Amino acid sequence: MNRIQVKTQAPYDVLIQRGILREAGQKIQKVKPHARLAVITDSNVAPIYLRRLLDSLENAGYRDVPSFTMQAGENTKSLESAGLLYQLLSQSKISRDCCLIALGGGVIGDLTGFVASTYLRGIAFIQIPTTLLAQVDSSVGGKTAINLPSGKNLVGTFWQPSLVLCDPDTLSTLPEEVFSDGIAETIKCGMIKDPLLFELLEKKDPQEKLEEIISRCICIKRDVVEADELDTGNRMLLNFGHTMGHAVENWMQYRQRHGQCVAVGIAMIIRAQVAAGTLPSLVLDRFLAVCQKYCLPTTCDAAWEDLFEICRQDKKNTTHGIRAILLREIGDSFIKTLPFAEFEGFIKGGEGR
Ligand code: MG
Repeated sequence: MNRIQVKTQAPYDVLIQRGILREAGQKIQKVKPHARLAVITDSNVAPIYLRRLLDSLENAGYRDVPSFTMQAGENTKSLESAGLLYQLLSQSKISRDCCLIALGGGVIGDLTGFVASTYLRGIAFIQIPTTLLAQVDSSVGGKTAINLPSGKNLVGTFWQPSLVLCDPDTLSTLPEEVFSDGIAETIKCGMIKDPLLFELLEKKDPQEKLEEIISRCICIKRDVVEADELDTGNRMLLNFGHTMGHAVENWMQYRQRHGQCVAVGIAMIIRAQVAAGTLPSLVLDRFLAVCQKYCLPTTCDAAWEDLFEICRQDKKNTTHGIRAILLREIGDSFIKTLPFAEFEGFIKGGEGR
């Protein structure tokens, strides 16, 4: 088992092990021995994993654990869902010393975290992420969010979980495009901080190396989160490829998955850097090859103007412009604030590469 401690204000462990879902009760016993628990999950995950989790909780002595199954899908990350959950929790007499468990992907993790951080002014919660994207990215770091009709993740809090349990075995039931959605974020992690992780993704079968890939990504996330819990500085390195990626995602009206759009966004940045002479073209070749290996797209049909229009509304912008994340080489990244016009010229420069 890999154990990674995240030292935020209240420190917590991330445990990574095949089959750990069956031991969830024992692991939770160690951090929340006397708490009453409630599980929040979705309609995709519940039929496969909810029974396994509830059995494990019961074996560890937890009684009277209610579970709430939300409709699977991004639409569930809404104010309406949060409102419904507040009501259900209240009806089930969930009090301040209780602990919520998020069993599912990023939608369930973000929503449960948001509800946990606001219900009764904040109660504890535990993450059991069941997608690769949630395991390597959204379950660690304490960002919670719901969407508004005008955009994704516009309302949220920073609220750290008490424990994160990653069971790579749960990834075996994911559709292929959901798996590659997560792989895109692992490629990103390698590119910004970990050249060996990037090489592993290039050369090995990821199924055989899942524990190592997940652990390496979580270590990177841990390092930046510990140094910058509230996302005002170096944590932004994790946004590599995301400014253009989010624009692509928005332009596609969210019909393409986050990771797929991030891959396109990273390709745009690398092409621009190669054109500007700040990266060797070998970096682009290696990135395109690894994307091909995992069936990730690297181009998009949108007109530049349409994408830039969306970029200008990105919530991560400052009044001075866009904080671009750039590479010195694979595994070494930095932040550079560029005025909008300069950023747009820079990105367009990569066209045709
Ligand atoms: Mg992301």
